[in-house]
Order: sequence, then C-alpha cells, then structure tokens
Amino acid sequence: MIVVMKPNATQEEVDHIVDRVNGHGLKPHVIKGTERTVIAAVGDDRKLDVAALETAPGVSRVVPVLAPYKRASREVQNEPTVVSRGSLTLGGNHLGVIAGPCSVESEEQIMQSARAVKAAGGTALRGGAFKPRTSPYSFQGLKEEGLKLLAVAREETGLAVVTEVMASEDIGLVSEYADVLQIGARNMQNYRLLAAVGEAERPVLLKRGPSATLDELLLAAEYILDAGNNDVILCERGIRTFESHTRFTLPLASVTYLRAKTHLPIVVDPSHGTGHAWMVPDMAAASVAIGADGLIIEMHPDPENALSDGYQSLDFAQFATTMERCRVIAEAIGKEMPRVASSKEKAPVAT
Ligand code: PEP
Ligand code: MN
Repeated sequence: MIVVMKPNATQEEVDHIVDRVNGHGLKPHVIKGTERTVIAAVGDDRKLDVAALETAPGVSRVVPVLAPYKRASREVQNEPTVVSRGSLTLGGNHLGVIAGPCSVESEEQIMQSARAVKAAGGTALRGGAFKPRTSPYSFQGLKEEGLKLLAVAREETGLAVVTEVMASEDIGLVSEYADVLQIGARNMQNYRLLAAVGEAERPVLLKRGPSATLDELLLAAEYILDAGNNDVILCERGIRTFESHTRFTLPLASVTYLRAKTHLPIVVDPSHGTGHAWMVPDMAAASVAIGADGLIIEMHPDPENALSDGYQSLDFAQFATTMERCRVIAEAIGKEMPRVASSKEKAPVAT
C-alpha cells in the first residue's frame, strides 16, 4: 500500500507512519518528493486497516495496491480454477449448464425436468428444496423430501444436483443428496454459513447479493476458500437498481470484471437476472458469448402453474432452443459442453 502524506506533514508524522508500517511486519520505503512525502509499504498489507491509517495525523490518503481478497485473486493464482463434480465441469474451456425448476414440487415435475435438461444437453440439474421466499406464506420447498427426489433424478439421468442450503445446520443433510451447495443471494453475506460450507466437501455456487458490490462477492468467496474449500463458483444473478422493467438488473460486465480479478469460474443466472422468461434466451446467449463459464437457468414443465418463479421459467421447448443457440456460440469460442451419459451408460458421448 502507498501512504501519501499531506504537503505540510511533519517529520514526526512521517516517522509515526513508518513505525505503524514496521509494526505490521511490512517494509516502509520513504520517498521524499518536492511537494510531499510518500511511504510505500511493501509486503502483504491486507491486515492493515486503511481507514485507520487514513485518520493518522499528516496523512492525505492511503492507496491499497493488492486486492483485499487474496485466495480468490489472480495475484495469487493466475490459471483458471476448474470445478468438477459428477456431470458438471466449469472453468477453463468447460461450459456448464445447470437447469431445472426454481423449486422441486413433485416427483413427476422433477423427473420430467431432469429428462428435459439432459435431452437438451444441460450438464446439471437445479431445484430448490429449501426455498428462501420473500413472504413466509409462500411455498417454502419440500425440504428433505425434495432432496430425495433430486437424488432419484440424478440416479436416472446422471446429472449432478445443485441445490440451495440456507442454514449451517442443514449442510450435513443437504450434502447427503447434493453435488453442489448453492448459497442464495440473500445469504451471500451470512459469514458463518460461508465459513461452514467452506468445510463441506462439496463445491459451492455462491450467488451475488442483490446489493453487493463485486468486491464484496469476492470477499464472500474468500470466506469459503479460507475455510479450506477451493471449489467456489461465482454467480452473477442481477442486482437491485432503479430500473423496474426487469426483476433485477443483470450486469454482464460483471463477468468481464470478475474474469480479470479472479481465477474462479463465473456463472450467469439470466432467470433471476431478468425475471421474464422471454428475456432469458438472449441473456443466456450473451453470457456464453462473453465467456461466462456457465449458466443457471430456471425451466419447468408447466411454467404457468409453477409454485415459484414460473414467470421467469422457460418451458422445455424454449430451453432446448436456448441450449442449441448457446452450443453454437460455445463452439465458436472454443468452449466444451459434453453431453452427459446416464449413470447406467459407460462414458460421456462427445459431441
Ligand atoms: C434460486 O436460485 O431459485 C434463488 C432463490 O436464487 P437467488 O438466491 O439468486 O434469489
Ligand atoms: Mn427461483
């Protein structure tokens, strides 16, 4: 970090900063200019409190050089992290498509969905069993029964299961059935939950909070990485803005920004990001075109009668068309999206 002193800073004030920097185990380099003095603190400065240093007498401003997150940063690991669990592989040149209903509603609904995901070339099945709903009176999910139905669907189709865990006490139960633990947008800053999934032996799909900055998303990922879990997938799912034509505002530039800052795979959720089924195909295609590592898409056998998020869910035909479009784009930019073999088949059929 670089500490820029005020033009009239005294020698005592400069010495005080040098002592503070030394006290944190960093090496101070004092550069005396004609106008003012600058102190470069060399070393890992992430534990230094920028705001506290800025209140010291004689300090004009403090400029951090390293990103506040460490393990998630490209400064620490440049090559992309590839997350792989069952049929789902994301990162590097692997494109993963996670699709399925917002909520698991019944055996028939999830089995039909899983078959349609697989037939269209999706690589994992989503479906909420524990649902974070804005109203306590809305459908809250089938809970363990829903998890069991997801496991049945995996057994038949071979698709990895991605499902949300809302509370630390449910991690053991959800992990019995799920391949990937989803942390919902509302829980992105539930730091105890993040640390707890950091100890789980499952990849984690971390959704961006609707009012979280990208640095806050990366710092949330840092909690999981720091607890020992390297398999973190970041998910842009839209943020809250003044715009009301879409449910959230989906900033695709997040993919480009995150790509530059982190080695972790980045997934886009065009369903929650727009809140309108008719907007999902374009946003899915655009996400693949700009190099997202994956998509998470809501689809349903009968969107009109879905128990949650039907208005943003594709029907099976729309999902299949979207997949065809994404596959063409993926191939054009050198991404691989292998078709998933069922658990009874021997090897995936390359396409
Ligand atoms: C979901 O995936 O169904 C969901 C609740 O998403 P989010 O946490 O992004 O709102
Ligand atoms: Mn949903």
